[in-house]
Amino acid sequence: MKISRRINLHIHTKYSDGKNSIEEIVKSALNANLEYIAITDHFSNSWKSNIIPTLNNREKIENYLEEIEIINNQLRENKQKLVVLKGIEIDLSSSHNYISSLIKPNDFDLILFEYLESPEAISFSKNIITNWKVSYNETQIPILGLAHFDPSFFIFNDMEVLFSFIAEFNIFLEFNSSYSQYYSTKYTQFFQKIKERMIAVSIGCDSHTLSNVGDIEDPFMAIKNYDLLDNLLTLLAELDKKLKPI
Ligand SMILES: [Zn+2]
Repeated sequence: MKISRRINLHIHTKYSDGKNSIEEIVKSALNANLEYIAITDHFSNSWKSNIIPTLNNREKIENYLEEIEIINNQLRENKQKLVVLKGIEIDLSSSHNYISSLIKPNDFDLILFEYLESPEAISFSKNIITNWKVSYNETQIPILGLAHFDPSFFIFNDMEVLFSFIAEFNIFLEFNSSYSQYYSTKYTQFFQKIKERMIAVSIGCDSHTLSNVGDIEDPFMAIKNYDLLDNLLTLLAELDKKLKPI
């Protein structure tokens, strides 16, 4: 099957440590002929929040969501093919209370988790998602993914723990153009498991400037080389289902 769909589901703006406005990002994405992009600014109260700006209060989050909504409506009115997802990148070193008090999952189309690097981080994430599932129904839970996932933390230990977690909660793994070392052939066995388990995969560039908003070729080639095009199609189907309902 031919994959002509161009996506970049990991982009930062001035709402956290990106250099550009959402509007500027959208112009670049249109020039790069992208079909789906996700604005995924940082959310953190760990060490990271001392270094970079993050979406650290409800008012800021609401302004951010509203701005994305307005731009999306304009794109739709102008009959553009591009859809902008309301995303956020949650730092798993943040505290549970901070996340649960400020994040309403149904506000978002996509939630990325970063720094899933241990069985403890898996339990932590499980708790958060399970709590969301108590308060929100299935259709209110957004698409969930692991940002710039680094296989080295799981290739010798706990690979099964990881795979049963991502399968149970339907979580995708992101192929990120800024971290080519994570797709090294030394992880071939890991990527074979992704194929066997039919885990969805995504493409993200971790864009902080306009220069790499359209740099999706390298992650796409890595996905292709590991024979994971069907896994990418799984994600594309999920995006269409959620965001382009008939
Ligand atoms: Zn990021």
